[in-house]
Amino acid sequence: MRWSSRFFHTASRVFNEYPSWSKSILVCTVISGGGAVAFCDAKPEYGNEPPKKKVVVLGTGWAGTSFLKNMKSNSYDIHVVSPRNYFAFTPLLPSVTCGTVEARSVVEPIRSITRTSGVNINFSEAECYKIDQKNNKVFCRAVKEKNSGEREEFSIDYDYLVIAMGGRSNTFNTPGVEEHAHFLKEVDEALKIRRKVVELFERASLPSLPVEEKKKLLSFVVVGGGPTGVEFSAELHDFVHEDLAYLYPELEQYVNITLLEAGDHILNMFDQRITEFAEHKFARDGINVKLGSMVVKVGENEITSKERSTGEIVTMPHGMVVWSTGIGARPEIVEFMKQLGQINRRALVTDEWLRVEGSDNIYALGDCATINQRMVMEDIAVIFSKADKNNSGKLDLKEFKDVVDDIIERYPQVEIYLKKNQMKDMASLLKKSQESGITVDIEYFKEALSKVDSQMKNLPATAQVAAQQGVYLADCFNRMELCERYPEGPLRFRGVGRHRFRPFRYKHLGQFAPLGGEQTAAQLPGDWISIGQSTQWLWYSVYTSKQVSWRTRFLVVGDWGRRFMFGRDSSQI
Ligand code: FAD
Ligand code: MG
Repeated sequence: MRWSSRFFHTASRVFNEYPSWSKSILVCTVISGGGAVAFCDAKPEYGNEPPKKKVVVLGTGWAGTSFLKNMKSNSYDIHVVSPRNYFAFTPLLPSVTCGTVEARSVVEPIRSITRTSGVNINFSEAECYKIDQKNNKVFCRAVKEKNSGEREEFSIDYDYLVIAMGGRSNTFNTPGVEEHAHFLKEVDEALKIRRKVVELFERASLPSLPVEEKKKLLSFVVVGGGPTGVEFSAELHDFVHEDLAYLYPELEQYVNITLLEAGDHILNMFDQRITEFAEHKFARDGINVKLGSMVVKVGENEITSKERSTGEIVTMPHGMVVWSTGIGARPEIVEFMKQLGQINRRALVTDEWLRVEGSDNIYALGDCATINQRMVMEDIAVIFSKADKNNSGKLDLKEFKDVVDDIIERYPQVEIYLKKNQMKDMASLLKKSQESGITVDIEYFKEALSKVDSQMKNLPATAQVAAQQGVYLADCFNRMELCERYPEGPLRFRGVGRHRFRPFRYKHLGQFAPLGGEQTAAQLPGDWISIGQSTQWLWYSVYTSKQVSWRTRFLVVGDWGRRFMFGRDSSQI
């Protein structure tokens, strides 16, 4: 390896993986004449240690990678199993479909992410096809076939299992979707879309083709008006009108982009102001948004939908369909849920500590899991009797205050309710008792807390949730032994003592919706709305800072710069 490239490689690793003081050491050593390579290659040594617990991690997406990146404890042997040997920065996949960003700029090999963590981490490129909870074993199959056409199979034992397998594109069993539509969930799917768009333009520009055929080929249909479908439509519109229009000037007039949404509005998880802005912008841009339109069939060359308002069945031609209607459970997860008796659930159910219900050493996080948040009302009698230490049948202010922190910690809906109603603390819920010093009986306690459960909602299937869960779980694993001795969680209302850890708490940091033409909408905490070009720059800076490594950060920023200067590349490779 050339000296200079080795230096940059090493320096970027140090900047990615070592704390800030080590960066100053690197800078000093380089200035004082070398030694940086020796410093980086030095590995910590470990003496005789007790046998390590085996942790198996399934998946290298947002949740799995965030867990691995934050593991610091040396008490575990970690084995990672995933069919892809890299982490992919999914929020930039719509940009990959049109070449705004290159595919290799949004991925980082998992081995390079975990290499210098100092924790023992092995990786196998394989998929888990079965989890045997009784024998603490997972069964896996290599992704690549041997020469004989078979795939290598193996099993791994675990003490703890971390399931972070994500979800899969949900087709709602609509006929023809698997066969004829494109999905946008994985990097290779984004690349397929990129190739297909250019292929359609090349086919449409063949001299023998009649105009009607050109129009059919250049009819792009996007199904699903969520953030991904909307962002892809906007990217495609920009690609066509900013780049392809100059290369295929005679074809621009035949391009038609249609976005089909079964609900009443696109981006319906966002504030109404953002939804309206997006719908108006798409109308101005000529993106044909059809609301209340439910796709019932996808054919090779046409797509059929049912209009909700009239019941009318409409068929339109297409050159390409991109299906983006949310995610469902992977078959392996469905099978495991059956084993656990979790029937009719959309994802693996865990408690607030991310532990799979019905098991004590299996954790699930990210898109494949959902937290079964307990209702205060279900537990209210037990909470009351625990709080009522002198068994008087009433809570005085002191008894009440003693249990408040535990309630707030265990039931996040209480905090949300207090915030929404601008109450300072839980004592304001029981105003009467605080003002007059009188005690509270169970009926009053119930009444005061009766509304808080209305604030419960499932966490969204986003990278933000998955990454925060990974950080949380790694932190629990890092402090497992300490918290065995000094539990820090809230009171066990149904059992004795305290929980080992505080439960997982999601902190929403806001959400972006890029709308094309250098316009982005953002909904930030506190329902703060920001729309326009300045928000696009905020989007650039947030996504730069969220990159998993300095290498991808440089590449992504470089790609954006290249796009500004030279436009997107439409070579058919
Ligand atoms: P994934 O990231 O999907 O990872 C799952 C992992 O499990 C993968 O490594 C996969 O290979 C592996 N796996 C699959 N099957 C098996 C098996 N059988 N055995 C072992 N491993 C397996 N979220 C945001 O917050 N903001 C955004 O802007 C945003 N934009 C998005 C844009 C697109 C195009 C898409 C598709 C998603 C976007 N999301 C966004 C959602 C976000 O990507 C997901 O919520 C997030 O990836 C979930 O993380 P995860 O780790 O649970 O699953
Ligand atoms: Mg009492």
